[in-house]
Amino acid sequence: NAPLSEVDPEIAAVLENELARQRDTLEMIASENFAPRAVLEAQGSVLTNKYAEGYPGRRYYGGCEHVDVAESLAIERVKALFGAEYANVQPHSGAQANAAALAAMIKPGEKIMGLSLAHGGHLTHGMKLNFSGKLYEVAAYGVENDTNRLDMERVREQAIAEKPQVIIAGWSAYPRHLDFAAFRSIADEVGALLWTDMAHFAGLVAADLHPSPVPHSDVVTSTVHKTLSGPRSGVILAKQEWAKKLNSNVFPGQQGGPLMHVIAAKATAFKIAGSAEFKERQERVLEGARIIAERLMGNDVTEHGVSVLTGGTDVHLVLVDLRHSELDGQQAEDLLHSVGITVNRNAVPNDPRPPMVTSGLRIGTPALATRGFGATEFTEVAEIIASVLKPGADIEALSARVSRLAADFPLYPGHEEW
Ligand code: PLP
Repeated sequence: NAPLSEVDPEIAAVLENELARQRDTLEMIASENFAPRAVLEAQGSVLTNKYAEGYPGRRYYGGCEHVDVAESLAIERVKALFGAEYANVQPHSGAQANAAALAAMIKPGEKIMGLSLAHGGHLTHGMKLNFSGKLYEVAAYGVENDTNRLDMERVREQAIAEKPQVIIAGWSAYPRHLDFAAFRSIADEVGALLWTDMAHFAGLVAADLHPSPVPHSDVVTSTVHKTLSGPRSGVILAKQEWAKKLNSNVFPGQQGGPLMHVIAAKATAFKIAGSAEFKERQERVLEGARIIAERLMGNDVTEHGVSVLTGGTDVHLVLVDLRHSELDGQQAEDLLHSVGITVNRNAVPNDPRPPMVTSGLRIGTPALATRGFGATEFTEVAEIIASVLKPGADIEALSARVSRLAADFPLYPGHEEW
């Protein structure tokens, strides 16, 4: 019964140091967030001890009466949140949700067509080293060279030529809304199923601040830990007719015992995502991203070759285009890191630099909005980022401004350790 600090001081130190890092820096990785204390509590709980293969009321293990309640709550809450007929809350991660969804929809050797990885798609949408690229034939659509946006007529022409069995809508790095009705109509025209992976923008959909893919898609998958700010994990939504196939492709198709502690934490996260406070937070997420995009389009920044892909954003992230800048993605990421702002470098479409270097940055606002940032703070953050991306930045002075912002918006206040 000894505490972690006694049993394993090295790991206790990792937790302590990571908490300090999260507190003292500004987290702007677009796929990250801070799970609320209540979610951490559910996740770090005795439910991790329980085996519960199967589904609520139909388990292969005894003693599931309490975890059944947690899973049923998670299912009912996420269905209500997104207006879905069916939900599976067992996927351990977004990638596993996607593997199960594809396995339910098509057979190995059939064709999928999603946004290319180089243009903002995800590994699980057909990258050749991923299961999706190994098991399925892959065709990819891309953004237009001049606008860096999708042109749905070109996606349609490609779908007609490629005849995929599944069309994938969804992205990891694309700053605009997708036209789900157009994707549906293309899928119908070519006889394909439509799968939407809303991992990035699910929190915005939950808050009614982004079009919902649910009415248009056969299957929708998501992570729970990005804009939704729940525990690290996945979820699948669909029309009821898909229930049997999806359930059996999650368990036993992809997974064994569900992570009941994580499922309980998902239930809590879905409850929070239905609240007025959550919606107000997502509004600040969007406002922050717009403020940063606008600042980075100022003349003093663009004269150094820095620009914003698509000229703005509709979502929680900004894609900075450094193709015409002397700074590459790696250098820009390192410079921001040196003032205490964490982002990730990201390839931009037709990137001339290698994938480990890149010519882009992906900057997201969800985690800072969770910390309480609003328009005033995001304006200050935008100013700091703009200064860093211009030559001759005063790193020391900018670091002090970052530290002040971090101190003014304490993370997990009242908790000295975790
Ligand atoms: N789908 C999309 C669109 C993503 O951006 C990600 C994660 O980055 C995933 C799926 C995979 O999620 P996970 O990292 O939980 O496997």
